[in-house]
Amino acid sequence: MDFLLYGKKILVTGGTRGIGHGIVLAAARAGADVLTCHRQDGEAVDSLVHALKETDGDHHVIRADVGDTDEIDRLLAEAKDRFGRLDGVVNNAGVISHIPFAELEPDEWARVIDTNLTAAYRVTQQALPLMGRASSVVNIGSRGAAAGIPLRAHYTAAKAGMIGMTRSLAKELGPQGIRVNVVAPGVIETEAFDTMPAERAEGLRATYSKKTALGRLGTVEELAGAVLFLLSDHSAYLTGETINVDGGI
Ligand code: NDP
Repeated sequence: MDFLLYGKKILVTGGTRGIGHGIVLAAARAGADVLTCHRQDGEAVDSLVHALKETDGDHHVIRADVGDTDEIDRLLAEAKDRFGRLDGVVNNAGVISHIPFAELEPDEWARVIDTNLTAAYRVTQQALPLMGRASSVVNIGSRGAAAGIPLRAHYTAAKAGMIGMTRSLAKELGPQGIRVNVVAPGVIETEAFDTMPAERAEGLRATYSKKTALGRLGTVEELAGAVLFLLSDHSAYLTGETINVDGGI
């Protein structure tokens, strides 16, 4: 274990798979107590619970759908009951779909905006009474928000909105000692690559690797490294920023 986040109380939304899973484990191994949530039960939840049991600290994995504001309020009540305070919040839970704009229905627009953007608003707002000076909010955006991606107008709108919200909150909450930043991943190779046909995974790897300066996709651990930095006191004078973790795309 290293001690970058020793004793900190951290909430990470959507921690059972992918990037969130990597952030939860990295934060726990860096000495934080971590509370995370998910929507569906299953093997990913069991495996995270098992991994956290092997890690020192007071960790909790609970079911709460951040697409629903009542569930968010319940999640934050759990954070208060279990930790009494929060030193860090990572708004990571997100959903995406690929739909031609002309066919994008209001329900799908709302689902993607609610989970990616509205959840970050409500989680952060409800976390405020628990956050003191030297606390940090990290919003997981997307490199695609600045670039634009066909078939994902709803998703990029949500992630671009997150940047505006972050800039405003950095200024509004800075006087209280609360820092707010975005980490914008490029293409990160999560376990989702293992569940798709091998040929498709190889095609995606080749296409996106070529676009990066480093010539490869990112790992969950590399993404988590930037998040841990922003949660830690090493970034104490850094707020309102978007850090692109994209291999120089
Ligand atoms: P995954 O789909 O692999 O994992 C998403 C996690 O969030 C799961 O644990 C999931 O839990 C949880 N989650 C989703 N919806 C909800 C919800 N409504 N309530 C609670 N939990 C929820 O996503 P990634 O790891 O790929 O992405 C994580 C974040 O990074 C997202 O915000 C995404 O937009 C962003 N990102 C990812 C990139 C990448 O290359 N992977 C690139 C750019 C941005 P459950 O299984 O229970 O639904």
